[in-house]
Amino acid sequence: MPAQAQEISRRLRRWFARHGRDLPWRRTRDPYRILVSELMLQQTQVSRVLEFYARFLERFPSLHDLAAARPAAVREQWEGLGYYARARNLHALSRRVTRDGDGTLPADPAALRTLPGIGPYTAGAVASFAFERPAALVDTNVARVIARLFAPHLRPKRARDLTRIWRIAEAILPRRGPTAWTHNQALMELGALVCTARVRHCDVCPVARACLTRQREGPPPATRPAPRKR
Ligand code: SF4
Repeated sequence: MPAQAQEISRRLRRWFARHGRDLPWRRTRDPYRILVSELMLQQTQVSRVLEFYARFLERFPSLHDLAAARPAAVREQWEGLGYYARARNLHALSRRVTRDGDGTLPADPAALRTLPGIGPYTAGAVASFAFERPAALVDTNVARVIARLFAPHLRPKRARDLTRIWRIAEAILPRRGPTAWTHNQALMELGALVCTARVRHCDVCPVARACLTRQREGPPPATRPAPRKR
């Protein structure tokens, strides 16, 4: 990893240690629990997921319990979260893993991607957050942060640009798995709390000095000091 990227990662991790939210899925390395959180968090806000997460896990504490459940029971527990295809995929995945495999989730992102409903982001998230593998992950928040920090000309919505953002994510990823865990969490947290889609809070950003968007465009209008009255 280039020296500048190492310094950025260090700053992000230090910031995360102080400002990262204490969320239930950050206190566990259980692959099933991480997977449930990741699927629930797709297109749903953290505050909403918190209402459902513990209840769902109480009803289906393991992949085996979920696999044994009737589809209607799974749907009932997911009711209110929306995007029910996520629950259907999770249920199908639990049955596949318990029927065809040894009943455990694989740690390798490529193997994870063969399972129902698991795309490149979720595969990276489970590999990193559950197994502490040094796996890159790029969701909407991370793509925005990486583009603003390193490559403001890239547009995450363009497929070709997104591929380049993935390459940057891989290049800046620490090689030690536990360090990569914190690095990935910190990138996601920065995108959720500081460098958001709506506003970039460059004034409190731990990596502002190295950020290309901040250097080129300055702080966003909302955080610029008001002009003095003459
Ligand atoms: S300095 Fe501003 S634009 Fe750059 S990463 Fe931080 S919040 Fe985002």
